[in-house]
Amino acid sequence: MNQMKKPVLTLTGIDRHYGQGESVLSILKGANFTLNAGETVALVAPSGTGKSTLLHLAGLLEHPDAGEVKVGGLECNGLSDERRTAIRRESVGFVYQFHHLLPEFSAIENIMMPQLIAGLGMAEARERASQLLDYMRIGHRASHRPAELSGGEQQRVAIARAVANAPLVLLADEPTGNLDPETASYVFAALEALVRQSGLSALIATHNHDLARRMDRCVTLADGKVIAYDPGAA
Ligand code: ADP
Ligand code: MG
Repeated sequence: MNQMKKPVLTLTGIDRHYGQGESVLSILKGANFTLNAGETVALVAPSGTGKSTLLHLAGLLEHPDAGEVKVGGLECNGLSDERRTAIRRESVGFVYQFHHLLPEFSAIENIMMPQLIAGLGMAEARERASQLLDYMRIGHRASHRPAELSGGEQQRVAIARAVANAPLVLLADEPTGNLDPETASYVFAALEALVRQSGLSALIATHNHDLARRMDRCVTLADGKVIAYDPGAA
């Protein structure tokens, strides 16, 4: 099989609902989605339609009510929480709308953390974190804590942290949603360059059609399913 066509993430027949009895809210209803190796996909859909739900399921942060989630070809639903956590740490990078960096640690320490958890030595982790900071053009901010960084800088650190362990899949939930348009464009470009340069596979939720168009393809959520989406002309 062509390497680029190898699926790294497969969601099959996914159901997800919240609530019980009369007040059940069905968010995903038999949703299918495949992300192939090296592919970048934008998830563009209105607020409340289930983008975060889909990303959390894909990132093994939640369980579906029905259906299969495969990461790197491995079916993850039946696995223990420990196994799911291990797979998440090894194979998934997550970027949130709000950076979620550890406030008491510096930028470089935040990027070293997942590598140290994965068992890398201090020197190796620092070297890799330093390269990522330079790549994101915030090398001069290495020793600053999150509160001392601008919103765009915080998100660049969060992106660097998410890719520090070279994950199989990068999931980003409106990673530039909190930034002004100019900063959003700059941060997204840095994210895109990093993803392309490292051949990462990425699923990125965004409301921004200009940014969505830069991905290999776009999908949206309609009636609880994932369908192809055309973000329109530039
Ligand atoms: P999006 O990210 O597209 O804005 P979400 O996936 O966050 O959408 O949410 C989809 C819908 O599910 C929303 O109506 C939201 O209120 C609801 N929802 C999300 N999480 C929960 C939860 N834990 N309990 C109940 N309802 C939830
Ligand atoms: Mg959301």
